[in-house]
Amino acid sequence: MSVLVFTESLTGKIKKSALEAISYGYQVAQQQGTSCIALTIGQAEGADDLGKYGVDKVLQVSQVNGFDSQVYANIISQVAQQVGATLVVFSHSSSGKSIAGRVAVRLDAGLVSAATTLLNGDTVNKNLFSGKGIATYSISTAVKIVTISANTFPPKEVSGNSVAPEAASANIPTAKIRVKETTTVEGIVPLPEADLVVSAGRGMKGPENWGMVEDLAAILGATTACSRPVADIHWRPHHEHVGQTGVAIKPTLYIAIGISGAIQHLAGVNQSKTIVVINKDPEAPFFKAADYGIVGDLFDVVPKLTAAIKSFKANN
Ligand SMILES: Cc1cc2nc3c(=O)[nH]c(=O)nc-3n(C[C@H](O)[C@H](O)[C@H](O)COP(=O)(O)OP(=O)(O)OC[C@H]3O[C@@H](n4cnc5c(N)ncnc54)[C@H](O)[C@@H]3O)c2cc1C
Repeated sequence: MSVLVFTESLTGKIKKSALEAISYGYQVAQQQGTSCIALTIGQAEGADDLGKYGVDKVLQVSQVNGFDSQVYANIISQVAQQVGATLVVFSHSSSGKSIAGRVAVRLDAGLVSAATTLLNGDTVNKNLFSGKGIATYSISTAVKIVTISANTFPPKEVSGNSVAPEAASANIPTAKIRVKETTTVEGIVPLPEADLVVSAGRGMKGPENWGMVEDLAAILGATTACSRPVADIHWRPHHEHVGQTGVAIKPTLYIAIGISGAIQHLAGVNQSKTIVVINKDPEAPFFKAADYGIVGDLFDVVPKLTAAIKSFKANN
């Protein structure tokens, strides 16, 4: 019996969401009195440090280049069988989602995606209807799989132990597809994992005004997002669109600038821990969902806010 955690490192470095998955796996393993094993595939800078997060063993399959969900699923399934995993944990990231279902089929395992609670015996919860409902699932199969909701289980250092990574023995299947080239945006935390998000809507009047949103995001180290109409009219790229039909996010801080707060927008952002709304209309619906609100013209407020944060950072 063991808990196996697939520890994502698609950029060559172990991701924060992977550390969240490890913290989750460690806590379940503690409850079950079993061991927690991390598995990395490909280059995985930071694998030497995983002992701090409570893993008993780190297994590595390093001779894989590039991401292919079929290859990854095959390897993870082999390792899960070798270590007798009764629970396999994934981040609910785009790659985690693309692998977990395949592993579930291979291991004949029940899968719950975007879990928001620790697996307790057979049961685990997840949010439904944009967080308005909670479902409790019971997984009846011997092997269980969960993908865990981002920003829900903060990574916790629990031990001073260092665990030296070991090579896992796995047959590496031949990929059926070949990735010829990948282009990645450096230095930006992807929206689903972002802890701080600065988002703007139609109140910005046009794409030429987005510099002030980017300045505010840069000084905070935040990721930028937008409302759907802004992406539809190509003021911003579609991957920034949050809401019911866009990305659902759960940051610690969500700053909404010139966004009315339509129900479809709120559906993707209402799990944020703190919401700050800047809008010139005191009746804008977003204020009802806000923890802090500024009624004012964004063209006046946003540069002042950025300057104030800059000066605070310079003096602290
Ligand atoms: C099926 C369906 C799915 C949808 N899915 C999504 C979704 O996933 N995400 C999403 O965002 N929307 C979605 N929508 C659209 C949604 O209903 C709203 O139309 C949209 O969110 C409005 O975008 P907005 O707030 O940017 O624009 P607007 O509604 O036009 O609001 C602009 C706001 O800016 C404020 N403002 C204007 N000028 C200033 C200024 N100078 N200073 C300060 N404030 C100012 C205004 O007071 C206003 O509140 C969906 C709609 C449907 C029907």
